[in-house]
Amino acid sequence: MADLILIVEDEQDLVDTLTYNLQRNGYQTCAALTGAEALRYLERDPPPDLILLDLMLPDMAGMEICANIRKDPRLRDMPILILTARGGESDRIDGLEAGADDYIVKPFSIRELLLRIQVVLRRCPPGAMDSRQIQFGSLMVDPQAYEVKVNDKPVNLSALEFRLLINFLENRGRAQSRSALLEKVWDIHADVQTRTVDVHVKRLRDKLMEAGGYIHTVRGFGYRFSKKPEEAAS
Ligand code: CA
Repeated sequence: MADLILIVEDEQDLVDTLTYNLQRNGYQTCAALTGAEALRYLERDPPPDLILLDLMLPDMAGMEICANIRKDPRLRDMPILILTARGGESDRIDGLEAGADDYIVKPFSIRELLLRIQVVLRRCPPGAMDSRQIQFGSLMVDPQAYEVKVNDKPVNLSALEFRLLINFLENRGRAQSRSALLEKVWDIHADVQTRTVDVHVKRLRDKLMEAGGYIHTVRGFGYRFSKKPEEAAS
């Protein structure tokens, strides 16, 4: 069955454009012009497969909806893609801290949006990644199949967590600063104080169970992915 996408956006023209294009590309859609309407759609059974969420709504902050979704065990794994105005760097960061999977900056092309949707729905492999399976201790990652296992047990990661893990694997043994991670994984170039990286690293660590121990905190700097807690400075 086609994936159902909930569009939460108060600009009717944008809702119409999104609805038309998403349906043309094989998705089912429903739309909410207010936060209250969005919450009603989220109560439906089964819930939507993905939510496109504008952060600036007339009756409530999109962030609040984000946080509600992540608190609800029934909705916790639902991908959230934030729609944000250009220049709203702090909005993006707040949204990601509230648990969104990804964001797209307005105005955006439909092609780019469709790509992001496919990635967060994990229906297609991200093109840039190496296709080989990577084995690292008890951790196995298959970038092509979007699959992660720890001791042969499947782990369910969000698109962002997956990107973060791939980055760690590509830079194993090397300490990376928080701002470098923010740039590489989130594409956020800002001189801002943010807990985004820490919040998502913690979530990834917890989800990876035993393999979460490969992620080491480098005090006052960032993180290093390694089997050993300490690596000689070079
Ligand atoms: Ca709006």
